[in-house]
Amino acid sequence: MIYEPAEDSELLLEAALRELKPDDEVIEVGAGSGFVAERLKGKCKCILTTDISPFAAMELRRKGLDVVMTDIAKGIRKKFSLVLFNPPYVELEDELRRGDWLDVAIDGGKKGVKVIKKFLDSLDEIMAERGRAILIASSQNEPDVFDLIDERGFRYEIVGERGLFFEKLFAIKIWKE
Ligand code: SAM
Repeated sequence: MIYEPAEDSELLLEAALRELKPDDEVIEVGAGSGFVAERLKGKCKCILTTDISPFAAMELRRKGLDVVMTDIAKGIRKKFSLVLFNPPYVELEDELRRGDWLDVAIDGGKKGVKVIKKFLDSLDEIMAERGRAILIASSQNEPDVFDLIDERGFRYEIVGERGLFFEKLFAIKIWKE
């Protein structure tokens, strides 16, 4: 019921470790099993996790991570210097849908950008001034993901890539000037 760490989780971890500073206040949105957050804990000032899935939230709590079960970061009245998200980015076909929380972990809706769009719409409320975000996306989300970032006035740079046999994954660093 909880997303098993995969290549996208590793890509987020690698990019986050390159970006992380000891005084960072970090939030990982959609932290799932806690694979990334538990490896960053202790290397930054603080780390908060969120997930919309109650199963993920229970697992994150079991691992001793601070967790809020919410949609993106709704209700959290704090801004963070580093925001991380490995979102659902796959356009899941109807016949592959199982109707459980794993669908929620991978199903990004049309062109895989539905949750990415919601995240980008909330980013100004989550990210501190001069903060940075790292978002995982796939070649399946091109060019929409980059247009969505641009349209909201953010700057971006691809800071990590991983080629799979059917797609390419990107770690995208996002910030505002
Ligand atoms: N961060 C983990 C990792 O890298 O292994 C899990 C990544 S998995 C691809 C996406 C995660 O985002 C799932 O745990 C899912 O429950 C969560 N999620 C999906 N939609 C969300 C939303 N609107 N708000 C918060 N979390 C969400």
